[in-house]
Amino acid sequence: MALYVVATPIGNLEDITIRAINALSNSDLILAEDTRVTKILLDRYNIKKEILSYHQHSGFKKIDRIIELLVQGKNLALVTDAGTPAINDPGSYLVNEALKAIPDLKIVPIPGPNAAIAALSISGFPTEEFVFLGFPPHKKGRQTFFKNISEIKSAVVFYESKHRILKALENLEKFSEIGTRQIMIARELTKQFETIYRGTLAEIKPRLTDKNLLGEFVVVIDRT
Ligand code: SAM
Repeated sequence: MALYVVATPIGNLEDITIRAINALSNSDLILAEDTRVTKILLDRYNIKKEILSYHQHSGFKKIDRIIELLVQGKNLALVTDAGTPAINDPGSYLVNEALKAIPDLKIVPIPGPNAAIAALSISGFPTEEFVFLGFPPHKKGRQTFFKNISEIKSAVVFYESKHRILKALENLEKFSEIGTRQIMIARELTKQFETIYRGTLAEIKPRLTDKNLLGEFVVVIDRT
């Protein structure tokens, strides 16, 4: 009985480890955020397994069912749509609940892709220390989120969607006193339209025009 927390690609399907393929292949059941997305990955590696959906809106009943399967001795693999489960993705609640129900449950990380770490790794910024902030709040708390960035002396990393990336740059300009701190914006990492923007906020902002706003984004700000 074990719960494998399996990192999967953040775009390029080749970014999967041999251990991840083995964990998925050898599990009794795969818990997936979106079964259709995971099916594409499984088909690519010819893994034929039953998939059960587990996402942020899964209720107590689903968690009870998963715990029941673990108690029965099943090996389960948890994946999300992209990257490392539980990092800004469903997973931590399940891990916590499973541990409460089965304190000696074996929980095995299968490390792999993560968008924030991939972005940091190509930033060139010193990363002995960094602060990961997840997504800025959409409304309430958004101004405070950006104001607080000014207080952080180490590198800062956050995620933003295509719908709000321009707004995030405006918010950084208006609320964060980052002045000439270098920024890197990573768009569509590992995918066909991967684009990296580097410079100060004033340099980068005009380059992010409406036409290239599709995709997923990670923002990295250099330390002071
Ligand atoms: N668990 C994931 C991980 O380990 O990176 C993060 C999931 S979070 C719900 C999704 C966000 O991660 C996206 O909105 C985007 O900000 C970032 N992201 C995921 N894949 C990305 C990619 N290929 N390129 C750039 N950003 C990406």
